[in-house]
This record gives sequence, C-alpha cells and structure tokens, in this order.
Amino acid sequence: MLNDSHCHFFSSHFFSTLARQRGRGDTVEALCMELQWDDPGSPNVLADRWVQELDTHGVARSALIASVPGDEASVAAAVSRHPQRFVGFFMVDPTADQAVERVTHAVTTLGLRVACLFPAMHHVALTDPRVHRVVEAVAAQHGTAVFVHCGVLSVGVRKKLGLPSPFDLSLGDPLSITRLALTFPRLPFIVPHFGAGMLRETMMAGDACPNIHVDTSSSNSWIRYAPGWTMTGVFKTAMSVLGASRMLFGTDSSFYPRGWQRAVYVSQKAAATEAGISETDQALIFGGNFERLFPVRS
Ligand SMILES: [Zn+2]
Repeated sequence: MLNDSHCHFFSSHFFSTLARQRGRGDTVEALCMELQWDDPGSPNVLADRWVQELDTHGVARSALIASVPGDEASVAAAVSRHPQRFVGFFMVDPTADQAVERVTHAVTTLGLRVACLFPAMHHVALTDPRVHRVVEAVAAQHGTAVFVHCGVLSVGVRKKLGLPSPFDLSLGDPLSITRLALTFPRLPFIVPHFGAGMLRETMMAGDACPNIHVDTSSSNSWIRYAPGWTMTGVFKTAMSVLGASRMLFGTDSSFYPRGWQRAVYVSQKAAATEAGISETDQALIFGGNFERLFPVRS
C-alpha cells in the first residue's frame, strides 16, 4: 500500500491569499494563468481531481496540507468529500490572534489532524510560549500530530510570483523541537524532508525523542549542502537512528497540471532499496506508518 504523507492542497483560497499579498488586484484566474498552472476551481472539484490523480498512480491515501493560514476550510471540504482518501493538515501561525482557537476549531469541528508549523516563515522560536500553546491545543483536542518545517525553506510559488519571503532560517533548528517533543511525549512530531539540510540535528533530536518522525518528501536537493551526501546514505542514516517506523514517505506534490510527482517516488524507492532496507521496512515507510498514524475514520 502506497500513501503520501506530504501533498499541498493549492486551493482557490490559497491563490487568492497570494494575490492579496502581492496587492495588484489579480484574480485567481489571472494568477494561475501567469503561473501556467490550472485554476483549481472549488475545493470539491480540486478534491475530485486529487482522487483521480491518486488512482492513476496507485496511491491509496494522502495528506493534504492547507498551505496558508486560514485555508483550513478548503482542506476540510476535501477531507469530508473523500474521508477514505485524505488526511487534513493545516498551516498555523502561532503569532496570529486566536491561533489556539483556530487550531481547536480545525481539529475538532473541521476534523483536520495535523497542525503545521513554519517557524522560519512566522518568525517565532519553537521555544516561544505561543508555540507551546498551539501544540498543547493539538494534544488536548486529540489532534494526531504536529508537523514542523525545519532547515532550508523556499516556497516555489512565492518566488515565481515575486513575493518577498523574509524567512529567518535560524528559527528552523530541529534541536529546538526537543523540548516540545519531550513535553508532549505521546504526540508525534513530523519533520519534513529529513530536516531539509539539517539531517544531523534532526537525527540528534530524533535520537533524544522517540516521538520525532521524518518525512522523506521532495527532491531533497539540500543534499548538495554537504560533500558526499546521497539519498541512499540519507535513508541509511535515518534507518539506523530512527528506524523504519519513524519515516514517512512523501512527495511534496502541489499544483496541476504537474500533479502527483511520480519521479520522487521512483527515486526514493530506488534509494531505499539501495540502502538495503527490507521489503517489510519499506512497507512501513511507503504506507504502513501512515496507516498507523492516520487510520481511516469511520
Ligand atoms: Zn511541502
């Protein structure tokens, strides 16, 4: 069974938020035209397109990430239309007014499962009490996990649109998850892209905290930051420190018409195999762990 733990739901609301940030009065249609991407239409239309795409590639289920704060309702619509196929993730800015209320609403009323933190984007340290309160709300409301983007952060669509991205990468240190992870030991934390360049720190944090997981998503082009890194070596390292049960396959697919990024799957499957990871362990990484963390809700 193949499950993708990292896909973005680029909804109309997502694009209208970017248009507003750019301040030129663009419509969603005009913005998509400029990007040469498909206009997503309503959340239901986009959700159906995702299902079709997963079917085409033999992917059973996927995460869908609401990729700007305030877009929870779009992903919630997709999840409630296809509850067997999608698990809702949502970006939250802990510095925003009513962040805790938003998280509570998303996890309870909307049925989303994972709050996503981008400390470098939102200029907030993971040790900040506002982050603690958001994580506490996820735990208290029985949300499933917290996703924490660490390491290098570059948002392709922002670059393409010429939107400023004054990210403070120093705030994305995986070691600063450890206090939270140890405070909420039953709550899984997911670090995407093996820490996006901070592999060593991610492994250190994961060694100290049994609830820290990684996702394997994207092309992981951060491997060029250190001499001699290969994806095979990265898989070997993560296997030896975290073990297969704390690695979640993902692609980081987002826009259409590109759709689901099969090439990422093919290259990661090859790297995992070359790393000597057994079929049983690969079954966990590429699907089983997702099932365990995010069982289909009846
Ligand atoms: Zn992503």
